[in-house]
Amino acid sequence: MRVLIVEDEKKMASFLERGLKEEGYVVDVAYDGEQGWEYAVTNEYDVLILDWMLPKMSGVDLCKRIREDGKSTPVLILTAKDAIEDKIQGLDVGADDYLTKPFSFDELLARLRALLRRPRTLKDKTVLECGGLVMDLIKRKVTIFGEEITLSQKEFSLLEHLLRHQGEVMSRTAIAERVWDLHFDPASNTIDVFINFLRKKISEKNPDFRIETVRGSGYRLVKNS
Ligand code: CA
Repeated sequence: MRVLIVEDEKKMASFLERGLKEEGYVVDVAYDGEQGWEYAVTNEYDVLILDWMLPKMSGVDLCKRIREDGKSTPVLILTAKDAIEDKIQGLDVGADDYLTKPFSFDELLARLRALLRRPRTLKDKTVLECGGLVMDLIKRKVTIFGEEITLSQKEFSLLEHLLRHQGEVMSRTAIAERVWDLHFDPASNTIDVFINFLRKKISEKNPDFRIETVRGSGYRLVKNS
């Protein structure tokens, strides 16, 4: 799950970034509305956390612009304001939920889980399956023929991405964009290393699918025939 945080208060931003990374999210941070807009249109996120009061473009205006652009990514707005009219204004521009500062991190996590649980399209499902493999994105649990396998956060995100695009060739760049944050160098061999970790853990359970290397292109998850 990849999250964009747009928050100008550096302390708050790094607190959220750290906390969400510990929970297994892939996190990018933008510090003003315009940078937030750039990130939101160039990357695919599962959820956006927007502070209301931001330099250059407010969180509410940013949310409005994202909706006008046709994106349905869930948006959670953080606000120090708790007046009811403000909430109504925010909901009018297409925000999905609110959190009034100060809030507890557990509450934020609960709200995010609730937002992610709302299925929007098939690609946004919260339970992914392939043959005997079931990945529950909310419980962050993977089973193969009912037996749980333990994956690191990166392995989990990588497998999630391959599962969402079963049968399609995923380029290393596409994988890097979805599973790693903006500071990742797609030219490094990290992706290959993680693919091999994943293959090893999966093959021990004899699943009925495999991760193929498509020479010069990337990787593809396919069912064994
Ligand atoms: Ca702010």
